[in-house]
Amino acid sequence: MKAIALLHAGLAGALVLAAGCGRSEHASPEAGPLRVAATTSILGDIVAVIGGPDIALTTLLKPGQDPHAFNPTPADLAALSRARLLFANGLGLESFLPRLPAGSEVIEVSRTLAPRLLTEPHHHGERDGHTPDSADPHVWFNPLNVAIWTDVIRDSLSSQDPAHAAAYAARAAGYRAQLLALDTWIREQTATLPPDRRRLVADHAVLGYFADRYGFTLSGVLVPSFSTAAEPSARDLAALEEIIRTNHIPALFVTRSVSPALAERVAADTGARVAVFYDGALSGPEGPAGTYLAFMRHNVTVILQALKE
Ligand SMILES: [Zn+2]
Repeated sequence: MKAIALLHAGLAGALVLAAGCGRSEHASPEAGPLRVAATTSILGDIVAVIGGPDIALTTLLKPGQDPHAFNPTPADLAALSRARLLFANGLGLESFLPRLPAGSEVIEVSRTLAPRLLTEPHHHGERDGHTPDSADPHVWFNPLNVAIWTDVIRDSLSSQDPAHAAAYAARAAGYRAQLLALDTWIREQTATLPPDRRRLVADHAVLGYFADRYGFTLSGVLVPSFSTAAEPSARDLAALEEIIRTNHIPALFVTRSVSPALAERVAADTGARVAVFYDGALSGPEGPAGTYLAFMRHNVTVILQALKE
């Protein structure tokens, strides 16, 4: 019985696919939906929403994979070469991007944004080997930046596949409305926090766009870099602990990609507690950050709970 039911489901799926192909009239000889790729799981989630059933998407980084420290395998590169478009964050996040072989057109979705620059007082340029420029790539911590990504993705898909431009535009408009609702929700949530508690200390320089948008101060970072692949000196750590003590900062925000030992040491020294949040990757679908929208709501909830205590 079960096998028959599954077979029926498979047939129904095939029929839906066939109907989908019949409707579209591609000028190119290629059959099937537009092949596109995305680098990070966050970007892949958003491309999937806007592309819907009109694209076949390959996302390079799996949920939980840190884009700061990623090198594609030959199999990854082969999958990418079959895509007409490759969506990337840009701003130095994907250090492998300049080494990709020519093939698919690379669309850096953050290319029209004015990036924050690295201005942390304890920054030492010579350690910053993984970020060749000093632009902060973590633009997705402000949903209004993601609304700009949405426009770039819509326009890129439409220019490759004009037959589905209306569908891409409709899904982009729907998603933009959800991003604006998310922004409103974050503003309402953060407004409940007294201004003297809006101080953020994180394991690397990840929350700058969030701080700028929602009225927080970045008081310090464990790793003086936009990348998780860097290490602080004893002097850096002592200075950070002084900041935490002086400002009575109750929590230290760490991502899943930096070794927790350093953060735990600072927490033990200062009495601040360690709160874990998501940085450059979604959780799996069963986790609390399975989509970008869930990722932001989860992170905001973690930040506010830790700073209210
Ligand atoms: Zn990061």
